[in-house]
Order: sequence, then structure tokens, then C-alpha cells
Amino acid sequence: MNILIINCGSSSLKYQLIDTDTKAVLAKGICERIGIEGSKLTHEPKGKDELVVEKPMKDHQVAVDMVMKALLHEEFGVIKDISEISAVGHRVLHGSKYYSDPVLIDENVKKVIEECFDLGPLHNPPNLTGIKACEAAMPGIPQVAVFDTAFHQTMPEKAYRYAIPNEYYEKYGIRRYGFHGTSHSYVSKRTLEISGLDPNNSKIIVAHLGNGASISAVVNGKCVDTSMGLTPLEGLIMGTRSGDIDAGVVQYIANKEKKSVDEVLDILNKQSGMLGMSEISSDFRDVYKAEVAGNHNAKVANEAFVYRVAKYIGSYVAAMNGIDALVFTAGVGENDGLKRWEICEYLGYLGVKLEDSQMKLRGEEALISTPDSKVKVYVVPTNEELSIAQQTYSLVK
Ligand code: AMP
Repeated sequence: MNILIINCGSSSLKYQLIDTDTKAVLAKGICERIGIEGSKLTHEPKGKDELVVEKPMKDHQVAVDMVMKALLHEEFGVIKDISEISAVGHRVLHGSKYYSDPVLIDENVKKVIEECFDLGPLHNPPNLTGIKACEAAMPGIPQVAVFDTAFHQTMPEKAYRYAIPNEYYEKYGIRRYGFHGTSHSYVSKRTLEISGLDPNNSKIIVAHLGNGASISAVVNGKCVDTSMGLTPLEGLIMGTRSGDIDAGVVQYIANKEKKSVDEVLDILNKQSGMLGMSEISSDFRDVYKAEVAGNHNAKVANEAFVYRVAKYIGSYVAAMNGIDALVFTAGVGENDGLKRWEICEYLGYLGVKLEDSQMKLRGEEALISTPDSKVKVYVVPTNEELSIAQQTYSLVK
């Protein structure tokens, strides 16, 4: 079954057409600079040359129409008719408390996605625009929403509540929701498959370490805690996000620099993390190079990143009262053997031991702990698009 995966950002649209029978990506691509000057579609069909179309895209409707044309293109296309697309799976950022599973989109679902605009102001509006554009371009083809928050809906109240006055939780739903749910779900399920752990008696920590980074504690396949909160700002140190911070810092910077709360939040989201600390780059590779060249700020940024991950792992081991497997995924988790090593050096007290050969492992699924390690440690490459395709398939098959 061919499933089209759509991931809409405010000025971009990423897509993949996936055959769920073979797991093959038939085509993938991106529309960039939608609604601004210099719009461009880059289309990569399997086994064929890349197609680049530079043409104004005034909105996401035009972008979806161009994607359809590319998929059906005589030379660069991969299907002959729209009917070869069985369903469309949309990545939607925020489903609040309403969705813990993927859902077939109807008017009610769209209303809920709109109700969540305040919770996901940068993502939910373009997500909804993309859904409406696909409905118009592919009438009658089922559309499914897969929410980034869904997997974390199993967290117990003690884990998702903030210690703020109750009324804010009740009036506005201010609580921790967690994100990267599709990745945490996919990676934890895959770990259960490859580890031979009993799915009903398992304690797994998934460390999704990329430009955006989050970590989750998964007991018997269900999320019991995760590091991101009401927004993706909370938790680990990320490419440009600060992660956990004393809320007093917001007031302090606002007063000293004469900035609004929105402006300070923008700094914490876009100019902080590895970028802010190192003053070099948000890219972990650049920060590492700078450290090797003797840059002190880069060294501290790298050390603080590793330290924060290790602290979260320790707290989740306590939360779960044990751990069977630790899994690394995403850009850094999959590719950076040194960071994995440094994180696991903090975990000696748990009996974690890594193979030396893991240092060189990049982007491959593997068990990286030694046979006598008390905790199994894995690298499992994440595949959010395939996971969305599989979840969409399971709803429409
Ligand atoms: P993601 O957001 O999952 O795509 O991850 C992006 C981050 O992964 C970037 O900051 C990259 O620096 C980092 N990354 C990718 N490949 C490597 C690598 N070989 N070594 C270290 N970091 C890497």
C-alpha cells in the first residue's frame, strides 16, 4: 500500500511516498520558502534523477499541487494515477490530551487541531493548512493525523503535572505533553523486537539526541516520562534550545535587556543550547571541532550536553526502579560514538559497559554494550516517516 507522508512547517512541506509492503521510499522531497520569495521544490524519485522546480508557491495548496505533479510526472514521477496513493499520513505536532493514537481526520479532528493552535503556535497552523490542501488535492483519499504528543499520553499525572496553581492546569491545560513521540514509539518498539526483552516486563530509556533532543522512560512499551514539556523547550540541551532552566532567568534577562517575555523565549528556543553556549554553531560536529581546536566554550557546551543526558538517565532509572535497555537514536545518538561513550561513562554504577568498536558505529542498528554489561545498550536509527506510514496503514488497511 502506498502512503504519502506530509510534514508541514510554516514555510516548508516535506513529503515521502512509502510502500508499506516493502518499506521502500518511492519518492521524497521538500517544498521550501512557501509564501516567500524563492520557493523551490526538490523531488527525489527512487532510481531516477532529482527534479528541482523553482516556481512561486503562494501557499501550501500550491505546494501540495506541485508535489502531486512531481509524483505523477512523466519522467520523474513514481505513480501513474492519484488512486495509487491509498492514504495520506500527516505529522501533527500537538494533539493535547485528546489523542493518544493516530486518527482518521474528519471535521471534528480538524477542530481539535485548531483548538491546539495556542499549544503549538508554530506547527499546528501549517499542519492544518497541509491537511486541508491534501483534502482538496486528493478528494476521497483517507487522511490520517499522527500526533507528536500521542505516545506520551500514557504518562501518569505525577509525571506530567507542573507544580503550579491547579487553576492553570484546569483552565488552560498547562502540563507536560512531550514531543518526538513518533520517534520514541518507533525506537522503543524496535528495541523490544531486537532485544528479546519481554514486552510486558521491560524498562527502556530512549535517548533521541539530535538538533532537537528528548529522552523518554518506557515501561512495558508505554511512556511513563519524557523530558520535553508543554513545549519542546524543556529538558535536554539541544542545538539551539536551552532545555531545563529556572523560570526566573526569563524575568532576569527581560529586565536587564528590556525585552518582552516572547523575545526572551525566542532566545531560549533559537539562540541557546549548543549554539548559545559555544558561540560557534548549533551543529554538534562544528562544536566538537572547535573543542578539539582548544575552544573553551565549545568544550563546556559538549560537557554540559553529556552531563544533562546522564542526569536524565539517572532520574529515569529511579523513576522506573531499574533499566533493561538504553537506546540511542537521531543525528547524534546514531552517529556520535564519542558522545555515547561519554554519556555511558557516567553510568558505570549501573554496570553499563560499551564495546570499544561502538566508537566507529554510524547510523546502523546495533547492540553496542559488552556481553557482561548489566544494561543492554543499542543504537536504533529512528524513522519517523516509516512509523507514520505504518500507523496510517494500520488505520486504513
Ligand atoms: P537530527 O536533528 O536528528 O537530524 O540531528 C542533527 C544533529 O546530528 C546535528 O547537530 C549534527 O551535528 C549531528 N550529527 C550528525 N551526524 C553526526 C556525526 N557523524 N557526528 C556527530 N554529530 C552528528
